[in-house]
Amino acid sequence: MKKRPFVAANWKMNMTAGETRAWFEAWASLAGTEEADVVVCPPYTALAEAARRAAGIAVHLGGQSLHWEDAGAYTGEISGPMLADAGCRYVIIGHSERRRYFGETDETVQKRIAAAVRSSLRPIVCIGETLAERDKGRTLDVIRLQLDGGLAGLEEETIGGLIFAYEPVWAIGTGRTATPEQAQEVHRAVRGRLAEKIGKAASGYVIILYGGSVKPANARELLRKPDIDGFLVGGASLEAASFGEIVKESIRAYKEVN
Ligand code: PEP
Repeated sequence: MKKRPFVAANWKMNMTAGETRAWFEAWASLAGTEEADVVVCPPYTALAEAARRAAGIAVHLGGQSLHWEDAGAYTGEISGPMLADAGCRYVIIGHSERRRYFGETDETVQKRIAAAVRSSLRPIVCIGETLAERDKGRTLDVIRLQLDGGLAGLEEETIGGLIFAYEPVWAIGTGRTATPEQAQEVHRAVRGRLAEKIGKAASGYVIILYGGSVKPANARELLRKPDIDGFLVGGASLEAASFGEIVKESIRAYKEVN
């Protein structure tokens, strides 16, 4: 039995409070998205507006990152308690843009996971290879290293509660999506590595998302694959209508394979 689809929007450095209000107004006019778990990760400055708009509807909120300390002299950073206070239930950790532009490493990913869990935020942990790594045939090695580094020292129970997002760096914001077969190969390997850490049964419950130029036109075929449980969506999540279509296509695929 495949898991109910989980679809998360990563708005990155987009969307003012006013645009957030308009997005939620447009979302409210859509029907047929109820049979999926939907999460929106706005920029911090739009969280208050998003929390007001998401109250009472089946949309949960997530942060786009967090610091590993709960408070202190870290100018420009945001902490787990602050995200929880702002209404977040989830937080993205280790996005490839954070790794590439802001120096995140597997070690800081591990520290941020621990911080998120302390604040009862459910981490969405991003992993993925660059094009050069794929071309050298290193994809599965890179994924394994990211998993082993990011999860080092974490308890089995913590690992079992994480959500993973496989996001090939070459597919993010490029319009180039991994084929369903390429994505499934990596998702299967992720689940396999998790099985070695927390056991096969527990690994079967872990949600593993795909991210990288997901659109309404490619969501269904990807979600039909057995180890793909949903999506982390960047560009196509900025319009409520296209994000809603991705959610609906995911629900359609889920029903087809169950
Ligand atoms: C992302 O940044 O997580 C992402 C998947 O972006 P896009 O959908 O735009 O490729």
